[in-house]
Amino acid sequence: MSVRLDGLNTLGIPARAEEVITVTDTRTLARLAPRFREEGMIVLGGGSNVVLGADIRQPVCLMRNRGIRVEERGPEVAVTAAAGESWHGLVRWSLGQGYQGLENLVLIPGSVGAAPVQNIGAYGVELDTRLDSVGALEVASGEMVRLSARECAFGYRSSRFRLEPGRFVIAEVTLLLGREGYPVETGYGELSLELERMGISRPAPVQVAEAVTRIRRRKLPDPRRVPNAGSFFRNPRVSGAELAALQRREQARGRGPLRTYPDAGGSVKLAAAELIDRCGFKTRQEGGVRVWRRQPLVLTNPGRRAAAEVLAVAEQIRSAVEEAYGVRLELEPDTFGC
Ligand code: FAD
Ligand code: NAP
Repeated sequence: MSVRLDGLNTLGIPARAEEVITVTDTRTLARLAPRFREEGMIVLGGGSNVVLGADIRQPVCLMRNRGIRVEERGPEVAVTAAAGESWHGLVRWSLGQGYQGLENLVLIPGSVGAAPVQNIGAYGVELDTRLDSVGALEVASGEMVRLSARECAFGYRSSRFRLEPGRFVIAEVTLLLGREGYPVETGYGELSLELERMGISRPAPVQVAEAVTRIRRRKLPDPRRVPNAGSFFRNPRVSGAELAALQRREQARGRGPLRTYPDAGGSVKLAAAELIDRCGFKTRQEGGVRVWRRQPLVLTNPGRRAAAEVLAVAEQIRSAVEEAYGVRLELEPDTFGC
């Protein structure tokens, strides 16, 4: 008998799998290694960054192991959280303990175990700057291994886990957090503005979290009410020469310059939302799959349509952006059985 996955993906896609196995401890995970190898079992945490096909043929492993432990490391604390813990829950818990470092990453849906997969980031902070190591099942050997941050090969919304899918299943994540006095990151434009509005000039980490929470609640759809998977596309990076050509083209069209942000490696990051907006998609407010008006990088699925329909809308957007800007947007969520 197949199992419905509708409630296990925040896009609300109607989907089924032949089998769902809930993992609540590491020993069970290790025992599943042959099934990962032989049946290509897939892993789901909170299902907030996936697009699922209607019939998932592989068994699905649902990570639900729990637990948090703390170890003193000089001026810092090493916090190890099980993959099945809620990411937002961990951020709230860490702030409650007086630990600092995760405040900018508050309210990101999903599980701790998925956080390293795309090196989650928001409001000027990316996970890799807080991560010590990852404990994972190495599928080929069936052994539990520990990967240092360097071995995770983190990049912009990317990691070894994304580049080598199926090779590791993350069982736990160890973060290095600060105590009182650890610097807070408030350079992100919208965040500094919000703190200003709140009348706070030297914010404590909980106040940074509060400011981020306010912005996110205003700007993003709550997946419990409006099905969505957050940003549907990654922000593209272009070279200086490509950017100059793009800006010239925008000027010739009588438009203002595109927003740009510096990116590691000498390239420049563009805001995909702005490209989508300039292609006129903000007004796509009808139908089962829509563009979120307050943030056009987010596709919503109020009609709870199948993956094919969601991906068809995504493709329309990608084609329009490519035609207008010569930039091919990459999908951010992972697709399974599509
Ligand atoms: P899932 O969707 O279950 O899985 C995502 C991928 O990770 C899949 O490939 C899955 O196989 C793999 N995976 C899951 N668990 C494991 C594991 N234990 N071991 C190995 N692989 C695993 N992302 C950001 O970076 N920044 C944001 O600010 C942000 N905001 C969001 C806002 C909204 C409203 C929504 C809906 C999404 C947002 N996201 C954001 C995207 C998403 O929440 C994150 O990527 C999150 O880390 C996904 O967690 P999950 O448990 O839901 O992963
Ligand atoms: P925004 O503030 O409207 O800005 C648009 C884009 O510009 C962002 O994606 C961001 O890139 C980039 N940007 C803005 N200011 C920047 C700065 N000072 N330095 C570097 N890059 C800057 O973005 P938003 O959609 O409301 O999201 C706010 C934050 O939450 C972003 O960090 C975003 O990544 C994160 N977020 C992510 C998701 C997701 O599903 N992945 C969903 C919602 C929000 P970056 O994305 O690289 O930061």
